[in-house]
Amino acid sequence: MNDCLFCKIIAGDIPSAKIYEDELCYAFRDIAPQAPTHILVVPREHIPSCAAVTAENAALVGHIFTVIAAIARSEGLEQSGYRVISNVGPDAGQTVPHLHFHILGGKRLNDQMV
Ligand code: AMP
Repeated sequence: MNDCLFCKIIAGDIPSAKIYEDELCYAFRDIAPQAPTHILVVPREHIPSCAAVTAENAALVGHIFTVIAAIARSEGLEQSGYRVISNVGPDAGQTVPHLHFHILGGKRLNDQMV
């Protein structure tokens, strides 16, 4: 999508601190980290949010979760744990309308999620 920030990052038009990429997804460090480790995992395909996930892209989303688990292992988060968040829409504070999963860890996270 032409004016999508994450599409531009995936295309390399905007620089990012890349962690991982494959034919289906791309992972990079969040520019404003909210935990010692804060990584975003996004599909290459422009899907606006979780609300737009359908049976057609269910396998893609499943693949992203295998990537999330692998990144968490490689970042040393597996033992201590981590949080995976995907904000959907205004009430959740979604600021970039391209499906993405936040991986947050590296410290004891708040017991309350909201
Ligand atoms: P959300 O608020 O769930 O839509 O998450 C969007 C995230 O994208 C926020 O945590 C931002 O800090 C992050 N972000 C915005 N611009 C960039 C960028 N250029 N590189 C990396 N992360 C970004």
